[in-house]
Amino acid sequence: MTTAILSALAEEQQGLIERLHQPRRVDRAGRVFWSGELHGAPVVLALSRIGKVAAATTATTLIEALGAQRIVFTGVAGGLAPGVQVGDVVVAQAFVQHDMDASPLFPRYQIPLYDRERFACDAALAGALLHASRAGLAQLALPASVHHGLIASGDRFVSAADEARALHTALSDAGHPPLAVEMEGAAVAQVCHDYGIPFAAMRTISDRADDTAHVDFPKFVREVASRYALAIIDAFVRELNNSRDRRA
Ligand code: SAH
Repeated sequence: MTTAILSALAEEQQGLIERLHQPRRVDRAGRVFWSGELHGAPVVLALSRIGKVAAATTATTLIEALGAQRIVFTGVAGGLAPGVQVGDVVVAQAFVQHDMDASPLFPRYQIPLYDRERFACDAALAGALLHASRAGLAQLALPASVHHGLIASGDRFVSAADEARALHTALSDAGHPPLAVEMEGAAVAQVCHDYGIPFAAMRTISDRADDTAHVDFPKFVREVASRYALAIIDAFVRELNNSRDRRA
């Protein structure tokens, strides 16, 4: 079973490409994909690109052209819920699009013609990612917390404290209290729902979506989030392999 590992940023992907066995480069849809093996498991690596449409195209290409049978996403996000701090990890349980509003035709946040506001992650895959996140962080000897819950996605970099507060309040009032905000996950979750393939995602909290959100973002990604992503994906792929070996 081919697992696609989707990274949000190039810095996060680099370590994975370096570890890939029998790497093969495939160019498609203006994107570069790398297929090969990690710890003996068939994988394809991709950069999601930024924003919902770009991420949806990448996910669709992974499934249609690269044979991805499940997708795992790693990236960074802004913390929204109290207690979700910079350096923590959030493993998604489900995604909501915070900028979807077809009211009054459809309820706020509902995706027209899907009759739902949220797309859930695959419970087993998310469970494995949660386990790998704890194992990966323990291996790095870091005291970061791992949270599990709802993530909100939208085509906006949230970088003001009042905006972050308003977003958290509006979603919470509608029954969708989010842990974090980013720009791609809900789109990939929707594509995976359409194709019926398992999806899971983890995000390292890079900022609190407030007025300091842009400060040292590249440095954080390079020095912290990339190391987290690598350690967690490494633990995750080993776990996938172990469970496959146990079944065999
Ligand atoms: N500086 C980067 C652009 C980052 S855009 C570059 O030059 O490539 C922000 C990325 O991090 C998006 O992929 C988004 O998913 C995530 N993200 C982190 N913090 C966020 C926030 N506060 N609001 C929205 N997205 C955020």
